Amino acid sequence: MITVEGEQIEVIDAHSHMGARKKLAIHQIPPIMKWMAEDMLGSMDNAGVDGVVTFAIGVGEPSDYRETNQYIADAMRKHPGRIHGFMRLSPGMGPKDTLQVLEEGVKLGLKGIKIHPLIEHCPANDREKVYPLMEAAQHHNLTVLIHCGLGEDASPARLGEIARDFPKLKMIFGHSGLVEGVRQVVEIAKKHDNVHMDSSGVGWLPFFCESISWAGPERVLYGSDHPFNPMEWEIEKIVKHAQRHLKLKIEDLRLIMAGNIKRLVGIG
Ligand SMILES: [Zn+2]
Repeated sequence: MITVEGEQIEVIDAHSHMGARKKLAIHQIPPIMKWMAEDMLGSMDNAGVDGVVTFAIGVGEPSDYRETNQYIADAMRKHPGRIHGFMRLSPGMGPKDTLQVLEEGVKLGLKGIKIHPLIEHCPANDREKVYPLMEAAQHHNLTVLIHCGLGEDASPARLGEIARDFPKLKMIFGHSGLVEGVRQVVEIAKKHDNVHMDSSGVGWLPFFCESISWAGPERVLYGSDHPFNPMEWEIEKIVKHAQRHLKLKIEDLRLIMAGNIKRLVGIG
């Protein structure tokens, strides 16, 4: 819990990473090779974060993420209410194997899917490699978070096609398209009500404020991308700096900080 304007507000981080890797993927500094449940819980305690949605850290070599998905499912069982696990999928490995990993993830109790089109070298809207996974995600009522921004394969337009073609699929556009993609993501969200966006890494405050006021506070989710960004930094961006401009009702802040991700993922 954090305190804002004298009110206690629950905080659930919608975007964080755990696991170990032998080779860096995109993130170079800090060169984090390992970030396990204990590390995450320590950061959460320091920042007043009640729960995290977490998925595997990206690896710089081909991986089906099975091992880390299993680790995260175990951590979720060990820390109920604090760790909410998503499976990470690598669609570039082909739909047959990846669908298998997805079904295993469902059996493990994982509540959603994370895909990073750039690290996994697969365009977000690939009809052959990604669409069968979206079909299965919709069938299992999983929330899908796809990294958005930094490269053509992860462009807002490509993610927008998924939102259009799978209208019942609960989607989170990771990082809201980062700075250059935010306005486009907001336009897509206005067209498709299954689209949500997380706050992590949106570094230009005017665009971030626009995302909340134009897409609506029920569509924007607090996320940090921890351990790459500090949790406190991303919390302050919302409850201190954006709030100074937006003057949101406390109920709207509650949605952004926890309510939206709880509704999407079905957290009690
Ligand atoms: Zn991330």
